[in-house]
Amino acid sequence: MPRQFFVGGNFKMNGTIKSVTDIVTNLNNAKLDPNVEVVVAPSALYLLLVREHLRKEIEVAAQNVYDKPNGAFTGEISVEQLKSSGINWTLLGHSERRVILQEDDKFVASKTKAALDGGVSVILCCGESLEQREAGKTIEVVNNQLKAVAAEVKDWSKIVIAYEPIWAIGTGKVATTEQAQEVHAAIREWLKKDISPEVAESTRIIYGGSVSEKNCKELAKQPDVDGFLVGGASLKPAFVDIINSNQ
Ligand code: PEP
Repeated sequence: MPRQFFVGGNFKMNGTIKSVTDIVTNLNNAKLDPNVEVVVAPSALYLLLVREHLRKEIEVAAQNVYDKPNGAFTGEISVEQLKSSGINWTLLGHSERRVILQEDDKFVASKTKAALDGGVSVILCCGESLEQREAGKTIEVVNNQLKAVAAEVKDWSKIVIAYEPIWAIGTGKVATTEQAQEVHAAIREWLKKDISPEVAESTRIIYGGSVSEKNCKELAKQPDVDGFLVGGASLKPAFVDIINSNQ
């Protein structure tokens, strides 16, 4: 079965009630390719607002979730709280959390397990820094990030892998189609060898890092690019063009 094209929008810590409502209205009125699975991730504060007003065929994701069920964890959000709010997805392992908040591979893996166990699907982010790329360590870094998850998780059917080279995020410096395809193919090869050929065939591997309405069509043509995780451009009307880039 062909992999369904997937486009995620990561609003990060952006927006107000007014601007997030405008984005929702824009998406509600847009003509979207019905073959694309779309998931948007507003700030935690706006999850309920977006879930209530956004057209139902678009899913809503948290940008993070904690790995404990409940208790004295000030500022955190549980998987059960997401589920009870109609939020069926979460991002995990975004490089901004790995770098700024120092989340390591093990913690990301533990949160991935908690999310999946609680019925929340995961957009699992991975990717290398510029220094690691220049040292020829891209594949090793990405594989290690995924191996940590494989140690905790057996079922990959509710995971979308987002390859996001750190040097391309929010910089306007997009990976070339060759660079993206090379790493996506290597991730698929790793899935084939370390998990199973079936999981390798069915898992969506999406690209993130300065995706725009200008570069998305070429990237979408790559055989192992199954969609995008979009940051900055998901706040703009052009997000619709990115969603429709596989047509
Ligand atoms: C992201 O935050 O996941 C991202 C890819 O950001 P941008 O599209 O702005 O580079």
